[in-house]
Amino acid sequence: MWTVERALEAILARAGRLPEERVPLLESLGRVLAEEIAADIDVPPFDNSAVDGYAVRAEDTAGATPDAPALLRTLADVPAGALAAEAVTAGTAARVMTGAPLPPGADAMVMVEDTRPAEAGRVAILEAARPGDHIRRAGEDVPRGTVVLNAGTRLRAAEIAMLATMGRATVRTVRPAKVAVLSTGDEVVDIAEGVIPPPGKIRNSNRYALAALVREAGAIVHSLTHIPDEPAATEAALRAVSDPQTGADVIVTAGGVSVGDRDFVKPALERLGRLELWKVAMKPGKPLAFGGIGDALFFGLPGNPVSAMVTFELFVRPTLWKLAGRADLHRPQVQAVLTEAVPHTPGRREYVRAITTTQDGQFVTRPTGAQGSGILHSMTRANSLLIVPPESAGLEAGESAAVLLLE
Ligand code: AMP
Ligand code: MG
Repeated sequence: MWTVERALEAILARAGRLPEERVPLLESLGRVLAEEIAADIDVPPFDNSAVDGYAVRAEDTAGATPDAPALLRTLADVPAGALAAEAVTAGTAARVMTGAPLPPGADAMVMVEDTRPAEAGRVAILEAARPGDHIRRAGEDVPRGTVVLNAGTRLRAAEIAMLATMGRATVRTVRPAKVAVLSTGDEVVDIAEGVIPPPGKIRNSNRYALAALVREAGAIVHSLTHIPDEPAATEAALRAVSDPQTGADVIVTAGGVSVGDRDFVKPALERLGRLELWKVAMKPGKPLAFGGIGDALFFGLPGNPVSAMVTFELFVRPTLWKLAGRADLHRPQVQAVLTEAVPHTPGRREYVRAITTTQDGQFVTRPTGAQGSGILHSMTRANSLLIVPPESAGLEAGESAAVLLLE
């Protein structure tokens, strides 16, 4: 049996970064940038006012106080987006809005709060200004030519803002993986609003759980297929999603990968492609299969809904991130103090669904309740996975354990 670490290492060694793709700016959110971005303009592009106020020559305001204001003749206003119609000359001031260009001749801004209207088209300046006051200089954020984003950067809202500032309506990114999701099982039926499955049947939750996990990982759902427990149907479905032209980059199946008589996924994989790894020493999720069909990577996850989700998180998610060009593939892992005992039978490493919070400056954690791999509730309540070492005979309350934070 494989350890989680060795299995992940072997899997990631198979995952190279996908080709680049140019996309509209907003589509690039969450993707990895595939080009270096240099500033094509100064930011800000021109000297402008950081306040609503009056553009002045600082020397004209020397010694000004509320009791002895400097009286300056006002010129035409400069609204945002406009250019000053005239220069500020000795004894004059122009009303300038935040972000509007500084008029020629002015070397300081006085905030409107430090002024008062005066008679005869003048303004009273109540405080002396120093040259440069409240002025944003051209290029002070980004001088033209500076590299603002490096290739390999993951694009969040802040990076989208920077790209927009650089006028990038489209950007080159690493293409995210297209993932085919295949559920299995004769007992499994698709959902329909208000429909209760007939006796002996259960609703298909893996189809939706895995599709949601694919999307959460920033990848694209290539297709959703359900396979009955039948060898020819299994093979046909895998063949369809691994077509070199129209197929997926990654194939994820759930169920049918154990050693039961009706587990047809592993044999089909062995016929169509290659099985590279089977069975990982973990709970939930032991019967994990990994391999490939053509150029597509193949993950055969266990059918139990919790096992499917946990193995997706541990193996498929990091693979999708790597394919998408991301550098750090790990979730944050912290040490947390157990507020309850966690039973465990020595053998496999266990990933216990847990609620982890902070208390008095440290992480504390507790299991979400029943941990059976069919207990979906254990997932909906969890925000983390508490790791119980394989040799442990159970953890006591007050002990500290490693926790993977999922959010
Ligand atoms: P299997 O690995 O196919 O033996 O499935 C293990 C368990 O997970 C069985 O109890 C199945 O009924 C259940 N299961 C398998 N596939 C799904 C699915 N798509 N949705 C919900 N439960 C499933
Ligand atoms: Mg099955």
